[in-house]
Amino acid sequence: MTTILIIEDETAIRELISELLSIEDFNVVEAMNGKEGVAIAQSVFIDLIICDVMMPELDGYGVLAALQENPKTATIPFIFLTAKGTKQDIRYGMNLGADDYLIKPFTNDELLDAINVRLKKQGIVYQQYLNKLDQTKEQLNHFFNHDPLTNLPNQLSLRDSFEKIIVAHEANPTPSLLLTGEPNPTFALIILSFERFSRVNDYLGYEGGNYVLKEAAERIRQVVGSQGIINRLNSNEFVILFNPLSPENSLGSTRSLQEHITPFAKNLLQAFLDPFIIEAQEIVCPIILGIAFYATHGKTLEQLLQCAIKAKESIKHQGGNLYQVYHPSLVKTSPHNALSIERDLRHALENDEFVVYYQPQINAKTRQIVGAEALIRWQHPQEGRIPPYVFIPVAEESGLIQDIGEWVLHKACEQLKHWTQLGLPSIRVAINLSARQFKQANLAHWLSQLLKAQAIEPGQIELELTESIVVDNITCSIEQLTQLKNLGVHVAMDDFGTGYSSLSYLQQFPFDILKIDQCFVRNIHQNAKNAAITKAIIEMAHQLNLRVVAEGVETIEELNFVKDNNCDEIQGYFFSPPIPAEALTQLLQTPDPFVF
Ligand code: C2E
Ligand code: CA
Ligand code: CA
Repeated sequence: MTTILIIEDETAIRELISELLSIEDFNVVEAMNGKEGVAIAQSVFIDLIICDVMMPELDGYGVLAALQENPKTATIPFIFLTAKGTKQDIRYGMNLGADDYLIKPFTNDELLDAINVRLKKQGIVYQQYLNKLDQTKEQLNHFFNHDPLTNLPNQLSLRDSFEKIIVAHEANPTPSLLLTGEPNPTFALIILSFERFSRVNDYLGYEGGNYVLKEAAERIRQVVGSQGIINRLNSNEFVILFNPLSPENSLGSTRSLQEHITPFAKNLLQAFLDPFIIEAQEIVCPIILGIAFYATHGKTLEQLLQCAIKAKESIKHQGGNLYQVYHPSLVKTSPHNALSIERDLRHALENDEFVVYYQPQINAKTRQIVGAEALIRWQHPQEGRIPPYVFIPVAEESGLIQDIGEWVLHKACEQLKHWTQLGLPSIRVAINLSARQFKQANLAHWLSQLLKAQAIEPGQIELELTESIVVDNITCSIEQLTQLKNLGVHVAMDDFGTGYSSLSYLQQFPFDILKIDQCFVRNIHQNAKNAAITKAIIEMAHQLNLRVVAEGVETIEELNFVKDNNCDEIQGYFFSPPIPAEALTQLLQTPDPFVF
C-alpha cells in the first residue's frame, strides 16, 4: 500500500486531504508542522510527501532542504501545496528539488493527478533501479556459483540444483514399486572422477591441466545434454545430477532410470577414451563413475554424495574407464592394490590357490540340506585369504573371471559327482555367474557339454545372477536365461532387493528362485519396514511360482520370521557359514544335522 505524508499546519486542510486520500486507498500519515514532517519522513517508509510552504518553525522549503540532505529521504517524491503561486516561488521550490507545485485552491482531481503522475514516474525509476539491481545480483550470483575455468555451476550451487530436481519430481511423482511401496528411483547423482589427474599436471603443467579440464567439461556437456546438470565438485571431480525422467526429458518414454543409466554411463566413459591433444601431445585421461540413486540410496545430498563416493572408491585404482552403482556391501577402499591383485590372480589358477567352499541351504520346514552355494576362496601365498568382494571385481574387469568362473563350475560338478559316488542324498549346487560369463554367447552349449562330460543332472545345478547383470540388456538376458532353462538347470535371482528391486523386471525373466538379500533379513523382527517388504517379496514371488531363499539368516529370531512367512529355504550363519567340501560331506553323512 502506498503511504503519503501530509505536512500541513492548517488542521482543516490537512484533514480534508487526508480524508480524500484515504478514500482513494492511500495510507495517510499526518504531520502538523515542518519539523514533525521531517522526523516522520526519516523514521517511516514514505512513498510521497505533500507539504505546505508557509508553516511556523520550519517552512516547506526548510523541510525539502532537510530531506535532501539525507539519502534515505532525498528521493521521496515531493509536492508543494501553497497559496503562494508566483513564478519565482515555483522556480525556487523546483530548484530545491520539488517534483510538483499545487496552488491552492485546487480541485480533488488536480491533487490526485499530481500524486499519480509522481508515483508512476517514481515507479518506473524504481523498476529501472530494481532491474539494475537484479542484473548486478545475477552477475554476482553467477560469479559465486560458477567455476571460472569451466563456467560450470560449482559446488555451492549443487544443493540448489538438487533441491530443484526434488521439488520438480515431488510435483510429478513417479509410480511406486509394486512391491515395496518405495518410490522408484527418480534421478541419479554421479561422481565423475579422473584417475591420477596429478599425472596430467606433472606431464602438461598447470596450464595444460586446466586445458584438459575445460575440454573435459565440454565432453561431459556433450553427453549430458539436457538430461542433467553438471557441477564441478573440486579440482578433478564433477558431479552430474542425471535426470532423464524429468517431464521435459521423459516425454512418453516408459524407460526406468536403471534402463537409462547403463547406456549413459557407457557414453560418458566412451567420451574419455579419445586422448586430449595439447601442443601436439596426446594424453588419455581415464575416468571412473560412482553412482547413487535418489531415493533408493539416500534422500539428502550428503547421503547420495557419500554413496556415490563409496561406489567410486570401490573401483579406484583399477585403471579407470569403469562405473559402479552404489550397493550396501561395497567396501570403502580395497586395502589391496588392484594392480597387484590382477597380476597375482593370473597365477592363482595355475598355482592352485583357489578353493571352493559350500554354504548349506536348508529347507525351512523339513530342516534338510537341500542345496549349497559354491563360494570361491583365494588363499594368497603372501597376503593370506583375500575375500571375494576384493578380487571378484578385479577378475571381472580384467576378464580373468571367465577362467575362474569355469573352474568353479568344474569344481562344483566334480564335487556333485563325488557326493553321488558316496551314495549321499542328492543336493543342488548353486553357482554364482559373473556378468561376463552370463554374456558369453555359447554359455548354454558350453555348460551342456560340461554336464554331459561329468554325468551331472542339469537339475542339480542352479545359476545365481544378480539383477544388475540381467537388466543390462533385457532382450539378450531373456534369451540367454531361456536357453539355460531349456538345458534343465535352475536360475536364481541373487541379492534381490539391493539393486532394482522391481518385480516388474522379475516377471519378464524366467527365474526359478529368488534369493532375498541379507540386508532385508538383518534384524527383521525389529525392523517393521524390512519385515513388511520381505513378507511382500515372499508372497509375490510365490505368486510368480518362484522358490524363495532367505540369505544371511544369523539368529533364531530372523529364522523364525522368514519361516513363519513361508520362506522356502534358509541360508546363513545360523545353520552354517560357507565350509570346505569335506566339512559339507560330513554334514551330509550326519542324519538330520539341523533338526534340533
Ligand atoms: P553372494 O553371492 O551374495 O554370496 C553370499 C555371501 O554372503 C557370501 O559371502 C557368504 O559367505 C555371505 N553370507 C552367507 N550367510 C551369511 C550370514 O549369515 N551373515 C553374513 N554376514 N554373511 C553371510 P562371500 O563368500 O564373501 O562372497 C561374497 C560375494 O562374492 C558373493 O556374494 C558373490 O557375489 C561373490 N562370489 C563368491 N564366489 C563367487 C564365484 O565363484 N563366482 C562369482 N562370479 N562370484 C562369486
Ligand atoms: Ca550368490
Ligand atoms: Ca546373495
